[in-house]
Amino acid sequence: MNRIVSSSLLTLFAGLVEPAPRETAMTWLSENEPYLTRVATDLWERAEPAHEEVLTSAYLQSELRRAGFEIEREVAGLPTAFVATYGSSRPIIGVVALLDALPGLGHGCGHNLIGAADLGAVLAVREALARHSLEGTIRFYGAPAEEIYHGGVYMVREGVFDDLDALLFWHPSAVTTVIGRSGLAMDSVRFVFHGRASDATDAAERGRNALHAVEALSLSVDSARIRWPPNAVVNRVLLEGGTIPSVVPERATAWYFLHARDRVQVDAIRAEVASLADGAAEKTGTSVDVQILSSTRDWLVNRTLAELLQKNLEADEGVLPLSFGDEPIPISDDTADASWVTPRGGFLVAAFPAGAPSHTREWAESAAGSFALKGMMRASRTLARTFLDLIEDEDLLLLVRREFERATAGKPYESPLPEGRGPFDHMPRPRH
Ligand SMILES: [Zn+2]
Repeated sequence: MNRIVSSSLLTLFAGLVEPAPRETAMTWLSENEPYLTRVATDLWERAEPAHEEVLTSAYLQSELRRAGFEIEREVAGLPTAFVATYGSSRPIIGVVALLDALPGLGHGCGHNLIGAADLGAVLAVREALARHSLEGTIRFYGAPAEEIYHGGVYMVREGVFDDLDALLFWHPSAVTTVIGRSGLAMDSVRFVFHGRASDATDAAERGRNALHAVEALSLSVDSARIRWPPNAVVNRVLLEGGTIPSVVPERATAWYFLHARDRVQVDAIRAEVASLADGAAEKTGTSVDVQILSSTRDWLVNRTLAELLQKNLEADEGVLPLSFGDEPIPISDDTADASWVTPRGGFLVAAFPAGAPSHTREWAESAAGSFALKGMMRASRTLARTFLDLIEDEDLLLLVRREFERATAGKPYESPLPEGRGPFDHMPRPRH
C-alpha cells in the first residue's frame, strides 16, 4: 500500500467516524429532503397574508422548538413575529424568513420556500454544531408582513438583530444570483379623505365627495411623476371609495407605496404627494389625513459576505457572475434596515420559470412544484454552508465585520419610521 492510498483511506476512515461539519450538514439536508418538501407544501397550503400568519408562524415555531431552539414570540409588538435561538456562544449567525402570502393570490411570492429552506439550513447547522461540538449560536427570525413592507422595519427598530455577527437571507426568483447591489427605500402611506354624505342623485351639491378627492390625487400624481428620478416607482390602490353610488362617498382612502433610491428621494416624493393631497382636498372641499404606515431604507451590501455566498452557491451549478454596482435593483425590502445594524448578505435562487414575474397566479401555482422545491434545497445548502464558514472561520468573520464597520462608521442607525410610530397606529391590530 503506497502512501497516497493509505492517507486517502485514513481520510475516508476519519470521514466515517467524524465527518466534517459541512458534510454532516449536507448529509442531514439530503436525508431530510422529504421532510423539507412537506414543510414547504404545508406552508404553501396555509398561505396567510400580512400579520395573519398565525398558522405559518406557529408551524415554524413548533418545528424549531422540537429541535431545541428557544423561541421568543410576538417580538416588536407584532403578533406573528418570532426569534428562535439555538446555542449561547459567539459567533451569532442569523437567517431571516418571510412569513406572509399575498391576499387573494396565495404564495405568489414563494415565501413558503423561504420558510422551509431556512428551517432546513438551521436544523442542518444545529446538527453539525452538536455533532462536532462547535461553538456558535444560530438564529432564525420569522418576519411577518413583508408584502406590505411592515414587519421587518419594526423588528430592526426593536433591536432584535443588534447582537448578530452576520445575517443571511434568500428569496426565490427566476434567476440564481447573489445580491451585489442595493435596492430602493420606500414609504407605505395612506391618504384618507373625509367628505360629507348626501343623496348623490338630487342633492350631490350638498355633499363633499371624498372619492373625487382620491381621483384628483391620482391625476396630479400621474402628472408629477415625470419630474421624479427615473428609478422612482409609485404604486397605489383604492382601499375605500364609498359604499353605494346613490350616496356621495364621505370617506375614501388611497394607499400608496413610494419607492426611490434612498431616504432623501423618498422623503421628497412623499412631501410632494402630501401637498398634492392637500390640493385635492381643497379642490373637493374635503379634508385629508396622511398616515405613514412604514418606511424603509435602501440597504448596504457587504462584499465579503456576497463573495462567500457566491462561492457557496457555485457549489451547485448555474449561478450568474457576481457583480457589484451603484445602480439600485428595483426591489424594496423591509428587513433591509438590518443591513445598517449588522453585516447582511443575500441571494436569489431560481425556483420559478425564467420570464414569469412574481406576484402572479403562475408563481402561486408553482411555488410547491418540483422545480421550486429543487431551488429551495439549493438555497438551504447554500445557507448551511455559509453559516458553517462564518462559524468556523474567525478570520473571515473579522473581514466581514471590518467591512461593515467601515461602511457604517460615524452613521449610527436611525429608524426611518416616524418617531414613536406603533405598528398598528393606523391599521387594525390583528386579533388571534
Ligand atoms: Zn417576497
